[in-house]
Amino acid sequence: MTIWLDGALRDADSAHVSVFDHGLTVGDGVFETIKAVHGRPFALTRHLTRLATSARGLGLPEPDPEEVRRACAEVLGANPMPLGRLRITYTGGLSPLGSDRGTTAPTLVVALGATTRRPDTTGAVTVPWTRNERGALAGLKSTSYAENVVALARAREHGASEALFANTVGALCEGTGSNVFVVLDGQLHTPPVTSGCLPGITRALVVEWTGAKETDLPLDVLDRAEEVFLTSTLRDVQAVHRVDGRELPDAPGPVTAKAMRIFDEHASADLDP
Ligand code: PLP
Repeated sequence: MTIWLDGALRDADSAHVSVFDHGLTVGDGVFETIKAVHGRPFALTRHLTRLATSARGLGLPEPDPEEVRRACAEVLGANPMPLGRLRITYTGGLSPLGSDRGTTAPTLVVALGATTRRPDTTGAVTVPWTRNERGALAGLKSTSYAENVVALARAREHGASEALFANTVGALCEGTGSNVFVVLDGQLHTPPVTSGCLPGITRALVVEWTGAKETDLPLDVLDRAEEVFLTSTLRDVQAVHRVDGRELPDAPGPVTAKAMRIFDEHASADLDP
């Protein structure tokens, strides 16, 4: 595997980041996961815009978009595969113990892994921990992901692939790595970004393409929604067939199936050449 690290392509086995990198020691970094179909990245410009927003939010210098584009293109070119997940990691850089911030330029890593299309349906559980919609990291794609790792482990214990969070006022927010949509009286809704969720790129496209409403929803909407689905770069639109103890045996229901269809049709047109 060939990756990009700080300005050049390198063999992944011999590419090293300092043990004092601020991303490693305190999670001071941001990232993006981008789907690539036969080497063509999906929605790359949107991902680069969000990477810059997340970097600004953490007080990191904005990454040079041209360098990141070049890095993505070179990594994709060096590692051909049918379906890949491109991972951009951008951290605070080398930071000797005791210093507040990186003392070098930020670290930029671009790597690629193979992936497969996710199943059309999945199970989800709610977790007792909350997203902080007023926290410093709300809406930013930071590498501080340990809370999601813990929640996902809870989901796996229950045979589910995703854990769903409420925010501090009990409103439905998002999953560990996905946004959530529900159908109520035939109408599609998703929590607004003010709920503290990540402004997911798949979420934004589904809202644009289906006219879903952004609505504050209590967590217990999951007990009565006619349909529930998740969106993310790697899931696309994925129907939920079980939430906690509640079965949704007809998943994907008609609204979800339509969203899946619309997404698949539009998404193929949004691949970079
Ligand atoms: N919410 C969180 C916390 C995420 O980590 C992700 C993606 O990784 C998403 C939502 C979905 O965002 P996107 O559609 O841009 O992949």
